[in-house]
Amino acid sequence: MNLPPRKPDESECCGSGCNRCVFDIYDEEIKIWKRGLEQSSGSGPEVLRPDVYSSVKIAAIEKTNPNTFVYTLRSIEDTQALLTLKPGQHVLIKGNLNGESICRQYTPLNCGSKLMELRILIKLYEDGKMSSIIKHWRQNDIIECRGPSGSEVCPVTNNCDTIILIAAGTGITPMVQIIQSLLNNEEEETSIVLLFACRTYEEICVKTELDGWSDHWNFSVAYFLSQEQPDVVSRKKKYNDKIICRRIKVCDVQAVIGTVDKSNFYAFVCGPLGFEADTKKMLLACGICNESVVTF
Ligand SMILES: Cc1cc2nc3c(=O)[nH]c(=O)nc-3n(C[C@H](O)[C@H](O)[C@H](O)COP(=O)(O)OP(=O)(O)OC[C@H]3O[C@@H](n4cnc5c(N)ncnc54)[C@H](O)[C@@H]3O)c2cc1C
Repeated sequence: MNLPPRKPDESECCGSGCNRCVFDIYDEEIKIWKRGLEQSSGSGPEVLRPDVYSSVKIAAIEKTNPNTFVYTLRSIEDTQALLTLKPGQHVLIKGNLNGESICRQYTPLNCGSKLMELRILIKLYEDGKMSSIIKHWRQNDIIECRGPSGSEVCPVTNNCDTIILIAAGTGITPMVQIIQSLLNNEEEETSIVLLFACRTYEEICVKTELDGWSDHWNFSVAYFLSQEQPDVVSRKKKYNDKIICRRIKVCDVQAVIGTVDKSNFYAFVCGPLGFEADTKKMLLACGICNESVVTF
């Protein structure tokens, strides 16, 4: 079996911002591994369908912070492509809680054609119904999943100078799909600015990936941490992290979109409903029209 490359431990990174860090090398190895799997998977049928649930295997579980995990799903035999997923699309996962059937939507971190695996970032809530099922998931368990669902959401290549992505918590997942699909396209010249709201430094999800993408000339990220003090966070942060210890304000949005052509601009917003509503108000206050704001 063609096993994936081993992900380096945090301790294997010297933290001095090397040009090709161990995590950059890991990202490259993963890309080569995935290409190999795609080629060897040939044109066989995909496991997942949009209309009926199919069984898939939990191949790996990775804890990213105290209540958020990345679950890797693969075909039961590990050899079949799961599905083709476009940026912005999600899957549905079904579980059973004391005889009640529960179904929830999740947006995988990866997208593309004939995906051999899905990486799904899930935050578990104390009182959440699906959360109480998921917290018992273990490696090699079989679960029920269907997809793709939802529409493709991605700006037309090179149609805009800049796009702004504004996310809170697990609202980062569709943004990860968009960022990857744009950065993987060598012809793409749109600048991507991500404003990412989290409570604490430890709660920043997919930071390793975001740090890696920050090496691209056309991607930048600023973290807005609502429950951190500047003096405390300055001891934890990496040297080039852009951290602001408060919620996102209209001036932050204005700073990004102040000079862009507003008739040819997209803002992507994802997070809890209150966050989305507040963010939309800020965008409108900055002169962005409703049609240019994409939510998920
Ligand atoms: C299109 C779409 C894509 C999604 N993608 C993801 C994803 O990739 N990863 C992910 O973790 N979730 C994602 N979600 C949310 C997910 O579908 C569930 O709603 C979430 O996992 C909670 O389900 P639950 O059954 O555990 O909680 P529920 O039983 O539905 O809710 C119980 C309690 O949990 C809390 N809660 C639930 N959801 C939220 C929230 N978003 N923000 C704040 N508090 C909340 C509330 O206190 C709520 O009262 C997505 C939702 C949609 C609509």
